This record gives sequence, structure tokens and C-alpha cells, in this order.
Amino acid sequence: MTPKIARFLADQQPATPCLVLDVDRVEENFRALRDALPLARIYYAMKANPAPQILARLVGLGSSFDAASIEEVRMCLDAGASASAISFGNTIKKSSAIASAFEAGVTMYAFDSIEELEKLARHAPGSRVYCRILVENEGADWPLSRKFGTTIENARELMVQAGEMGLDPFGLSFHVGSQQTGTASYEAAIGRVAMLFTDLRDAGVNLRMINLGGGFPVRYRDEVPGIDRFADAIMGAMVEHFGNALPEMLIEPGRFVVGDAGLVSAEVVLVSRKSKNDPIRWVYLDIGRFGGLAETEGEAIKYRITTPHDGGPMGPVAVAGPTCDGADIMYERSNYRLPMALTSGDRVSLLSTGAYVTTYASQRFNGFAPLAEHYI
Ligand SMILES: *Cc1c(COP(=O)(O)O)cnc(C)c1O
Repeated sequence: MTPKIARFLADQQPATPCLVLDVDRVEENFRALRDALPLARIYYAMKANPAPQILARLVGLGSSFDAASIEEVRMCLDAGASASAISFGNTIKKSSAIASAFEAGVTMYAFDSIEELEKLARHAPGSRVYCRILVENEGADWPLSRKFGTTIENARELMVQAGEMGLDPFGLSFHVGSQQTGTASYEAAIGRVAMLFTDLRDAGVNLRMINLGGGFPVRYRDEVPGIDRFADAIMGAMVEHFGNALPEMLIEPGRFVVGDAGLVSAEVVLVSRKSKNDPIRWVYLDIGRFGGLAETEGEAIKYRITTPHDGGPMGPVAVAGPTCDGADIMYERSNYRLPMALTSGDRVSLLSTGAYVTTYASQRFNGFAPLAEHYI
């Protein structure tokens, strides 16, 4: 929790549940990343948190943006970003969205199939395109599965075709999975991409860009390696495979930029037990899976929870949300422990909830309002 957030909570006592996010911390994270990887251009993956206050701050810092829909493209433009600083990075786009983005001046697009490439050739002719390859997501707490990317062999063929279709075959991308806690996936993926660069050069296609995606982790319940470790591994692999002919490097961090800049302030609604002597207390908060904590699915992301009774005796708990849906449980198997003194009405904080929370909140499921947001 930053001092600014602590002061805001103490002074304002905002109604719960709410996200309080310190935009200065976003700036610090952005600068730390830029210092760690000075050769990489940062395209903020705005889906992590597209609040106008965040976008405006990042525009001021010279960030570029990874947008996934025409709505996100417009939000960037509204925040003052230039169209040339936007990558339309979703490999699944409506034709109408491509056409609108192209009309707005966006000239860089991702794809991973011939079908999408045909849409781009038709609705964004001449644009720079990059193909996303399928890579290992091992080590990621929030893997992106097989939904995105294509094989190396397919990517090779598609990049040749891109040129033939009047597009600019610009580069290759991958994403090693979100909350990636190890550096090995980046190193392996860079090696694969480098081989494809060589292959394609032999086929007469000179790629100029490698997009390393996002994935950089935030500290939740467990420690994670610092950003310098990732930067060192990435630059080591780049130099190993590309020598001094480094292509343009892009990164698309989302979680790392905003995750630890915000917290959710919540109220304990009920603390109860299933039977008198059950050691497990069920702690129900006024925010849950449907209030924005979607990444607790499968107990994948384990947020730290602080309470007014920290330091006192602790005991095991299950932690759940307030709705009438049985899936609205955050933690039942992850050995969470909270103070024995915790009681209904207490105000608790869920730390590092600045990424992938506000936009996941449902629209009045069970009547609960979407998460309130305070950017300070
Ligand atoms: C979600 C996403 C990102 C951001 O990932 P983080 O793990 O939040 O850094 C970057 N690029 C693409 C294509 C994405 O889908």
C-alpha cells in the first residue's frame, strides 16, 4: 500500500468495495521497466486497466498501447495517444473493427491465421502485420492456453503470404502467459523466433520486429523475481540469437504496470463456521469472483489480504464473495489464514489488485453495483 493510498483510505473512508489506485506508482513501474529494458518500446496492454487517468499518465510518459478492440483503440485516442502508437494486438478482430481502426490511422496489427490475414489485407491494406506464435506458458500462474498463436511452420508460410497480399510482414510475437514467474519461457521463445527470422530471410522476407508480449509478474502472496532478472534473461537471449543485428523490440506489459499500484478496500460481511467445532471459518467479503476478482478462478492468483487485526492469533479460513452463486468462492484450498478476531463490519484490503479487476466486475449480478474506482 503506498502512503498516498493509506492517507486516502484514512481520510475519505470510501464506501466498499472499491479500488484505490495510486497513479504515481503506475509511473514508477513504467519507468522501472523502461530503465530495465531500454531497447524495448513499451506497448501497455490496456486490458489490465484502461482507466483514462492511467492512459493519460502513460501517454505523457511516451508509452505506446496494445489495444484489443476498436473500443480500446478509441479509448487510447481519447487519452491523447497518437494512432501510430497503437498496436491492434488481438488476433481475433471483427472486419468492421479493423476497418475503423485503419480509418483512425492504426497501422500495426496482430494475426495468427490465414483467415485473419485475409481480413487485414482487405480492410487495412499495406499495414504492418506481425504473426503470433504458440509458445510454452509453463511457469505462468495465469496461462493463455492454446487459444492464441500458431505453429512455427504455419507462421513461416503466413509471413510469406502477408507480403504477397500487399501487407508489410513486420515481425513476430509471442506471449509466455500472464504472471509468468520464470525467465526460461522468454529465453526459449526468443530462440524459436530467431530461427524463424533466419528461415524467412532465406525465403526473401526480412522481418524487423520481435514482440515479446507481457507476462511480467507482480508480487502477490508469493515472492517473484524482480524485473531486472527478466530484463537480463531477455537481453541475454536476444544477443545470443541475434548478435548485434537486433531487431526492433516491443513489450506489452499489463499486470506489471498497474498491478501493485492499486488495492481493493472491502468489508467483511460475515464470518461463520459450517459446524460448531469446524476449525475452518468462512469469511464472506463484499467483493468476490463476480465483483472483479475473476483471476481467483482455480485459485490462480492469490491476493494478499490485510486486516485491522494483523499481528494477532490467526486461524484457517475459506474466503468467498457475497453473491448467491456457488462459484463465488475465492480461496478454499490455498491454506489462507486470517486473524481469529476478524468479524463482520471489519474493513480489509486486498493488495495489488490494480490489474485485471475493475473490468472483470459484473453488471449488478444479485444487484451488487460494479466496483467503484478511485484514481489518486
Ligand atoms: C493480456 C496480454 C498482454 C498483457 O499481459 P500481462 O501478463 O498482463 O503483462 C500482452 N499482450 C497480449 C497480446 C495480451 O493478450
